[in-house]
Amino acid sequence: MTAGALLKVTVWGEGLEQEKPEAKRIYPDGIHEAIAAGLRAELGENALVRTATLEAPDHDLSGEVLEETDVLAWWGHRAHEDVDDVVVDRVVEHVLDGMGLLVLHSSHFSKPFLRLMGTRCSLRWRNDAEREIVWTVAPSHPIAEGLPPAIVIPEHEMYGEYFDVPPPDELVFISSFAGGEVFRSGCCWTRGNGRIFYFSPGHETFPVYHQPEIKRVLANGARWARRRSASVDTASSPNSPAGWFDAQ
Ligand code: ZN
Repeated sequence: MTAGALLKVTVWGEGLEQEKPEAKRIYPDGIHEAIAAGLRAELGENALVRTATLEAPDHDLSGEVLEETDVLAWWGHRAHEDVDDVVVDRVVEHVLDGMGLLVLHSSHFSKPFLRLMGTRCSLRWRNDAEREIVWTVAPSHPIAEGLPPAIVIPEHEMYGEYFDVPPPDELVFISSFAGGEVFRSGCCWTRGNGRIFYFSPGHETFPVYHQPEIKRVLANGARWARRRSASVDTASSPNSPAGWFDAQ
């Protein structure tokens, strides 16, 4: 086992998409369980991956759970409004304190992402089972590690520009669709001490999260979004920079 602390990931999902027969066939235990399984397979013994869902008390995102979470992955679609604002506040605070956040597919409209972006986060969409090609536009970025220049998703929902988000700090993927649209499908931001990665592939009626390259993207995203150093503690920083010079 390589050195370094365990990467602790919590995968949050609504746990409602299985109510659609075509989604249940692809993700019998829910999308969150498929995402978690992919992360466990890719990250191996260096990671501890748990899941959380909407229906649990506190949506399974208590302060204790978030304290023990390095990176939170979020998949939501039809129940964004049902997420308790107290939990949203808690998630946002943890991100600003340094918890990583992976925002997946329709979670562009999730409350935590809207809050952290400050914009409408709207986009164009058409669910017509079109071919999507996810192009790597930052091959040296850690999230692109080990990936081909282009990932082909044979059938997927189209997400197109304009995507109403602040310009990403780093753009890792751009998707093109059979219908001609393009979309910034892999975007990175920093908010406070936290790193945020939005990745658009992942509609519930296509087996996107079973695709090996997609599992790799999410695992790379989790590694990247982890806070760089657990010792970073802004609360105990000196009030004046004098101590910094003494230490030289
Ligand atoms: Zn969708």
